Formats: sequence, structure tokens, C-alpha cells
Amino acid sequence: MLLLHKVRSGGTVVTAIHLISDPVGMAWTGSPKGKVKRMQQFKCRDMGIKCDFVATGQTAQEVIQKAMAHAQEKHADVLKTMTSPEQMAQMQKQMQSVIKSV
Ligand SMILES: [Zn+2]
Repeated sequence: MLLLHKVRSGGTVVTAIHLISDPVGMAWTGSPKGKVKRMQQFKCRDMGIKCDFVATGQTAQEVIQKAMAHAQEKHADVLKTMTSPEQMAQMQKQMQSVIKSV
């Protein structure tokens, strides 16, 4: 399958062509929906947090929701420093920027 999509590369958005033979990410997502094309993935590590947590989902939104739930449980100390909606927005923006398609 030939997939055209836009990827972010150092601030500029470029169009990339990927040749995909098999759906990836099925083994560890356990998705009951059958075919999964590309998953979005977030890693705590990419945020500079010493943590092995990895969140995956169909959309960046879903991944952020999972990551936020995880952060509330495991990184409450980090979240405590986010006192204003602006800081929260900034963090979510940062999270979005480290999410990768896998
Ligand atoms: Zn974590």
C-alpha cells in the first residue's frame, strides 16, 4: 500500500511517501478493530522524562489523552507545576510535537 502523508521535519512540513506492506503495531495494541494502518505514538522519554511509558492510539488526540491520564498518575509532580491553562496548552503542544507515526 502506498501512503502519502505530511511529516514534520525540523519545523517544515514535507510530503513523504511510504510504502507499507503490513499493518504495524497490532501485536501490542490489541485493537479489536482489525486493520490498523499507522499508529500515533508518544513516549515520556521524548519529553525528557525518565520513564518508559509509551502511549499509542489512532489519533494524536487519543494518544495525548492516554498520556495525560498516565501523567496524572505517575507524574503528578510535573503536572503540579502546570498551574495556568497557558502552561497546560504549552505542554500539550510539546506533547503533540513529539508524537510520531509508527
Ligand atoms: Zn511517564
